[in-house]
Amino acid sequence: MTAYRLRGGLVVDPFLNIMEQADLHVRDGMVVLPGSGPEPEEIVWIDGCWVVPRITDLHVHFRDPGQTWKEDWTSGARAAAAGGVTTVGVMPNTTPVVDSPEAVTDQRSRAGDRVRLWPIGALTLESAGRKAAPWDAMREAGARAFSDDGRALYDSALMAAALSWSERTGVPVIQHLEDPILSAGGVAHAGEAARLLGLSGQPAAAESVLAFRDVALAAEYGGRLHLAHCSVPGTLKALRWARGEGLRVTGEATPHHCLANEAWLTRFGTDAVTKVNPPLRPEEARKALREALASGLLTVMASDHAPHGQDEKGAPYATAPFGISGIETLVAAALTILVRDAGLSPLQALAPVTVGPHQVVGEAFSGLVPGAPADLTVIDPAVTWTVDPARFYSQGRNTPLAGVRLQGRVVATMVGGRFTFRDGEVLV
Ligand SMILES: [Zn+2]
Repeated sequence: MTAYRLRGGLVVDPFLNIMEQADLHVRDGMVVLPGSGPEPEEIVWIDGCWVVPRITDLHVHFRDPGQTWKEDWTSGARAAAAGGVTTVGVMPNTTPVVDSPEAVTDQRSRAGDRVRLWPIGALTLESAGRKAAPWDAMREAGARAFSDDGRALYDSALMAAALSWSERTGVPVIQHLEDPILSAGGVAHAGEAARLLGLSGQPAAAESVLAFRDVALAAEYGGRLHLAHCSVPGTLKALRWARGEGLRVTGEATPHHCLANEAWLTRFGTDAVTKVNPPLRPEEARKALREALASGLLTVMASDHAPHGQDEKGAPYATAPFGISGIETLVAAALTILVRDAGLSPLQALAPVTVGPHQVVGEAFSGLVPGAPADLTVIDPAVTWTVDPARFYSQGRNTPLAGVRLQGRVVATMVGGRFTFRDGEVLV
């Protein structure tokens, strides 16, 4: 394994809360102290760039096994590398669903060492919401969190049981907030754009009622509760309530809910590229999410990467699948939203894709100190670029961000001391 010296970069390490000009030495997959061994074989010049440890996308769908025409582990890992992502939380709604220890083991072997995987197991068998999955055995097999994402765990008694188990084990429960009765048939936010386009809407309360219910359950049963893709002000109120009570409840927002609003539906018309669940919301919701990230109420930004085939997304709006392909735009979107627009420091702006997800799953990472795994991303913060889905490594080209200008470009990605992306080339 080649030893490297990364020269001339600014280390931006949210785990250590430091920003400093420093060379980084990497040997045998680890960060090493300069001068502690032979000089590295290769010097990599990264003047003007940031070096950021362990960028993590807590919420992705890799579709493998079962729907590999949308994405498979190879295209997913390549997309992660190009997106500057070293660690992924992969949702269990594959076919079959990851609802057994064998399926967790299978995900880990599919991932290999191309990207670090936090397997997320299903809360219920087949994510059907009726019978608990074997949580203990799945945890032993390596599941780092549990979720029925794609749908909510709607049964309050099962959710209470899951949170009680989470309280005992410290393993988080991730909830997809959606009351299926309130949202039934809704393909867009129940608002102005849906009315104009004649689309059936789902109300904001379909999300927030479940947020309030789950916080109430967490208050009674404890546990670690993580609210996925929060998109409405009501959910943020539930989160504020949980914080006030000192509960271990966290929340995430996606880049698309922070960049786009329901007016984008009228702009794109019947093109289902804007169809996503939860749906794009009104402008005041978009603003509230940005404020919640900037204030630290929301501690995670995750892509909810949901790749689909072009023919599938080309179907009529009512029947096309929900989802946006987002892992390759996550890092630049975070920098655009939180540094360029909100004026946060790089350390603050990168926390929701580094420290935040680690806190959710309870994984300690030391930061870039000697002995730490060399999982890092090199970013050129000065580069502005235009999103072009035709250049994605993901099989999913479905994003309404095509043509949008983003600030900050991933230059290189390294996992365990090996470059997975460098000089515009994916190496996995
Ligand atoms: Zn979801």
